[in-house]
Amino acid sequence: MFTCPKCGNKLPERKLMFLTNLNAITCPTCLARVQVKNKKTSSLIGGIGGGVGAALGAVLLFYWLRTGEVFYLVFITALLFNIAFAGWWTFGILVQLEVKSQRL
Ligand SMILES: [Zn+2]
Repeated sequence: MFTCPKCGNKLPERKLMFLTNLNAITCPTCLARVQVKNKKTSSLIGGIGGGVGAALGAVLLFYWLRTGEVFYLVFITALLFNIAFAGWWTFGILVQLEVKSQRL
C-alpha cells in the first residue's frame, strides 16, 4: 500500500504498523528513513478512529455488562476490528510519506 518516497519500493506492512507521527521507519531497500508527511491528517484519523471506537465500544460494553449477552462481546470485537481496518485503509489513502531529512 505504501511505497518508499525515495526508491519507490513497497514498504513492509509489518513495519508500517509501528509508524506513528513521532517516529520513522527504515526502508529495507535503500535504507532511507521514512516518516509521515502530513501529520495533522494522520493524527486526525487516529483521533476520529480512536474516539468512535472508544464510544461505541463503551456503549456495547455497557450493554454486555447489563445483559451478559455474549453477542455484544462478539460485536465489540468485530466492531473494533472493522474500525482498525477502516482506519488503516483511510490512513493508506490520505497519509503521505516523505524521506526524513538527515539534519538533526
Ligand atoms: Zn527506499
